[in-house]
Amino acid sequence: MEVQLRDLRLQLERQGLLNKDLQIQKAELEKRLQEREQLVQDLQSRVEQLERQQERPSTDSEPQARKSRTAAIAPEPLPEDCLLSEPGIHKTTSESRQILKAIALNDFLSRLEEEQVSMMVECLCAEQCSQGEAVILEGQEGNAMYIVADGELEVSQAGRYLRTLTPGDVFGELAILYNCKRTATVTALTNVRLWSIDRQTYRTIMTNKSKHKREQVMGFLKTAKTLKDLSDTQLSKIIDSMEECKFQDNEVIVREGAEGNTFYIILKGEVQVTKKVNGQEKALRLMGKGEHFGELALMREILRTATCTAVGPVTCISIDKEVFEETIPFENLELPDDSEVFEIPVVPERKRLSTTLRLQDLVPVLYQEGRFHGDPVTLGLGGFGRVELVTNLEHGQYFALKRVSKRHIVAKKQEEHIKLEKRLLQEIQSNFIVRLHAAFKDTRYIYMLLEFCCGGELWTKLREIGRFEEPIAVFCAACVVEAFAYLHKKGIVYRDLKPENLMLDKHGYVKLVDFGFAKVLSRGQKTYSFCGTPEYLAPEILQNEGHDFAADFWSLGILVYELLTGSPPFSSSDPQRIYSKILDGVLKFPHFLSEGARSLVSKLCRQRPGQRLGNTKNGIKDVRNHRWFGSINWLKLRAGQLEAPTMCLIRKGPSYINFDRFPPDTTLEDEDLSGWDDDF
Ligand code: ATP
Ligand code: MG
Repeated sequence: MEVQLRDLRLQLERQGLLNKDLQIQKAELEKRLQEREQLVQDLQSRVEQLERQQERPSTDSEPQARKSRTAAIAPEPLPEDCLLSEPGIHKTTSESRQILKAIALNDFLSRLEEEQVSMMVECLCAEQCSQGEAVILEGQEGNAMYIVADGELEVSQAGRYLRTLTPGDVFGELAILYNCKRTATVTALTNVRLWSIDRQTYRTIMTNKSKHKREQVMGFLKTAKTLKDLSDTQLSKIIDSMEECKFQDNEVIVREGAEGNTFYIILKGEVQVTKKVNGQEKALRLMGKGEHFGELALMREILRTATCTAVGPVTCISIDKEVFEETIPFENLELPDDSEVFEIPVVPERKRLSTTLRLQDLVPVLYQEGRFHGDPVTLGLGGFGRVELVTNLEHGQYFALKRVSKRHIVAKKQEEHIKLEKRLLQEIQSNFIVRLHAAFKDTRYIYMLLEFCCGGELWTKLREIGRFEEPIAVFCAACVVEAFAYLHKKGIVYRDLKPENLMLDKHGYVKLVDFGFAKVLSRGQKTYSFCGTPEYLAPEILQNEGHDFAADFWSLGILVYELLTGSPPFSSSDPQRIYSKILDGVLKFPHFLSEGARSLVSKLCRQRPGQRLGNTKNGIKDVRNHRWFGSINWLKLRAGQLEAPTMCLIRKGPSYINFDRFPPDTTLEDEDLSGWDDDF
C-alpha cells in the first residue's frame, strides 16, 4: 500500500513538473509571439512612414494642399471606330520578350490586360535613330511612346542631364494617353533602335478591345435565363458593375453545399463541375469560355448544388447578389426618375438668349486701385481664353465675358466643342449652373456673355483657407449634386468637375461654369474621348474603356475629398504617378475626416462604374440620401431658401475683390475668316 502511495505521489510530482515545464514553454512561446507581433507592427508603421515620405518629402503629417491649378486635357476629335492601319511588324521571340518585360516593369503599362498588351506588342513599329539625334524635344507636343530596343539615350531637362536610357527602358508614355508637351529631351548617345506606338493606334487598341469585350460579355449574359427580360441598357449596367477575377489551376471557385451569392461567367480557361454522389466526387461536365454558373445566386439565397473547380488558370467576370440588386431593381426594371419625389417649388422662369444685348454696348470694368489700376478686370484665365468683367451702361448690370481666340480653337481642333458649349449653356436653366445671356463673334474671337458670379472661384477660397469645414463642404457638394441631377436628367455628362470650375454667386450658392467638355449621351451609351483634369479622371477614362455619367460621380468623390483636405486623394507632381494611383484606387483618409465623409468618398470612388453611388439603381437619390448630406434640406436648397455657410468666404468691396488679379491682355489674335463659326 505504502509503496503504491509513494509511486502515485512520485507520478503526481512528475506530472506537476511536466505541467510546469509546459507552462514555461507556453509562456516562452507567447512571449516570442508577442515580440513577433510587435516587430510586424513596427515594420508596418515603418513602411507606412516610408510611403508617406515618398509621397511628400516634407515632414507634414497632413495631406498637402494642391498648390497650382491643373490644366485640363481637352478631348481630341480622334475617330472612335478606326481600324488599325499598321499591320503588326514581326518581332522575334527575344524581341517580344524584351518588350513584354519593359511593359511589365512600367508602372502604368503593367496594368493593361494581357490581350491589350499582346495587341500592343504586335502594333509596335521599329524606328532607327543615329547617334546625336533627338527623339523627343522638351516643350514639343508628343504623339508617341518608345521602348528602347538597342543602344543608349540621354534624358535631359533644360540642358541638365537627368539619366541614361538603355534597352528595355520606356519613355514618352504620357503621349499615348493625350496630347501633351514633352517635359524632357531624349537624345541618342549611340545609334539606337526603338519600338514606338502612337496615340491613335494605342487608343484604338484599348477602345476596340474594351468594346469587343463588352459585346462579348453582353452576348454571354443574354444566355442566362434569369436575365432574359433585361434590356441592353440594363445588361450594360450589369457589365459596368462586374469585376474580373482570376483562379489558379485546381482552385475551387464554388463549393457544393456552401452559401452562394456570386454569379460567374467564364472568360478564359475551363471549369470542371462535380457533385458528391454516395460520398464520391462525380464529374458532371466541363465548362468553357462564355458559359456561366451560379446564376440562381442572383435571385435568392441558395446553397451551391455543385462544386466548380478551375482546370488550369481561369479568368471569370463576376457579380455578387448584393451588387446586382443595387444595379437592377427586380420589380421595377425601369431606371427611376426622382422628379416626382422632388417637386421643384419655384420653377425658374425660362429666359431666352437675349437679343437686345449687343457686344458694342458692353464696357469693361476697370481695376480701381493697385498694380493694374485703370486696366480692364480679368476674372480668370482658362486653357482656351480669358474671362473679363463687363457692364452694360444702360442698366449697370455686371456680366462675365468669356472670350476665346478663334485661331486657337482651330489650332486645337475645338470647333465642335465650343459650339456645343454654347448650345448646351443656351438650353440649361438651373440655379446651380451659370447662365448664358448672349453669344457674339467677330473676326478674331467668339464671346459668351455669362452671368457674373461675384463670389469668385471655390478654388481661390480653398487656397486661402487650406481646407473647408465640413458644413461648407457639404453645402458646396450639395449644389454640385443638384447641378448633376439637372444635367444628367437632360442626358449631359459634365466631365470637368474641380474647384476651379465652381463659382460662388452673391448668395454663396455654388454654380458650375465651363461646359467645354460636356457631352450629350443617351442611357446605356458610352463615350471614348480622353478628357478632364488629371487628378479627377475616373479609371475607365484612363483605360479608354468608354465612360458615361458614372465618371461625374467619381469626380464628385474626388471633389469632396479635395474640399475637406485641400488636396485630391490621388496626386503627384508626375501625372503618370497620379494615373497609377487612380488605378490602384487606394484611398488614404487623414485622421480629421469624419466617418460620413469617408463613407461617401469611398462609395463615389468605386473602381467599377456600375457600383458607384449615384449610378446604382436609385440613381442620384442615393447620393442625396447619404448621411454626410444629412443636414441638407434638398427642397429648400433647390428653392434657394437655405442659408449658405459659404457667405463667410465672400469678401465685400469692389466687384472683383473675390478674384485673383491678372495683367491686361496685350496681344491681339490673328483674324480667322475660315467660317467654321458661321452657325455660332
Ligand atoms: P478651362 O481651362 O478650365 O477649360 P476655360 O477657358 O474654358 O477654362 P472657364 O473655365 O470657363 O474657361 O473660365 C476661366 C475662369 O474664368 C474660371 O475659372 C473663373 O475664374 C472665371 N469665370 C468663368 N466664368 C465666370 C463667371 N460666370 N463669373 C465669374 N468668373 C468667371
Ligand atoms: Mg475652367
